[in-house]
Parts: sequence; structure tokens; C-alpha cells
Amino acid sequence: MEEIKRLLLEEKDALLSEIREKTGNKNEINNDIGDAIDSSVEEQERELDLLLQDRELARLEGIEIALKRMASDDFGYCDECGEAISKKRLLAFPLARMCINCQSNEERSRLAQNAFSRADYSSQVLGDE
Ligand SMILES: [Zn+2]
Repeated sequence: MEEIKRLLLEEKDALLSEIREKTGNKNEINNDIGDAIDSSVEEQERELDLLLQDRELARLEGIEIALKRMASDDFGYCDECGEAISKKRLLAFPLARMCINCQSNEERSRLAQNAFSRADYSSQVLGDE
């Protein structure tokens, strides 16, 4: 478990400095270029940044949760069935919250859901035309 904890702490540090770096850079760019930049490109870039930052923040949150669970000896058990998650899996995916069985079940149902919503979407688009 110490090994996994070290991995999590390293990842947390890396994420924190990445986020800090990105936020710093963005402010500089905005000051330098100001209004000269094409606003639609700027808009797109900002959205992309937000998206990336959201994902990084979500990951950071996941790490915090994992560290907390580790501290309370609650770490490494499947959220779904309560079985211990294999150490091999935890080393590969320290943020895994489900055992391999439950994870693949969930991925399968998520894929099925995505297929459904895509079908809904395309039928709506076709219907409007
Ligand atoms: Zn499970």
C-alpha cells in the first residue's frame, strides 16, 4: 500500500504544478496579446482550457478521496461489490474504485447508453430537417 500511496502523492504534486503553470501562462498571454487575438479562437481555446482543467481538477479530487480512504483503511475495495481490488490493478490504476468485473460491467452499460443517446440525437436532427 505504501507504494500506491507514493504514486498518488507524486501524481497529486504533478497535477498541482501543472494546473498552477497553466493558470499562470494564461494570464501572461492575455496581458500580452489582449484584443489582437481573434475572439472566436480565444473563446474556443478558453473552452478547451476549462475542459482540461475540469478533468485535472476531477482527477485531483479523485486522488484526495483515495488518500483519505487510504488513511481510514477504506482503500482498495470495490464500490460496487465490496471485494478487495487486486494490488496489480491498483498499481496500474490507483484511482480505481471498482474491481475489474464491476468496472467492465459498468463500461458495457455506459457504452450501451451512449449508443442510445446518439441514436436519439441523430433522429432528432433528421426529424428537424
Ligand atoms: Zn466489484
